[in-house]
Amino acid sequence: MIDLTDDIRLANNVRKKAYSPQSGFTVGAVLMAKNGKRYTGCNIENQGIQSICAERVAFCKAISEGEFDFERIVVVGGKKDKEAEKCLPCGYCRQFMSEFVDKDFKIYTVYENKVEEYTMEELLPYAFQI
Ligand code: ZN
Repeated sequence: MIDLTDDIRLANNVRKKAYSPQSGFTVGAVLMAKNGKRYTGCNIENQGIQSICAERVAFCKAISEGEFDFERIVVVGGKKDKEAEKCLPCGYCRQFMSEFVDKDFKIYTVYENKVEEYTMEELLPYAFQI
């Protein structure tokens, strides 16, 4: 397993910036580009229109800066001010991410001192079938 110490620290920090008055659920995501640059994101809720997940915020920040080669994303989420729980990208985010990554892109969820690793293909198998 690769060293995710910095990613996890950054994900915990950005998670604190989440804006989630409706759900009370806060998520931080750190997207690592293949060139070593990291992009952070937190969930941003909105009354009336669709909220934006942390994963998509991180991707949008990266893509808007011209980044297109991605290696992994680390996701940390849970109830506000509580310990993280198992938090994987929602269906909408999986579909969104699959546009920009290959099937071996790694997705990590960190909770209870555990790090679980998934690949894009595991989370959205049909997207990579011919
Ligand atoms: Zn999502």
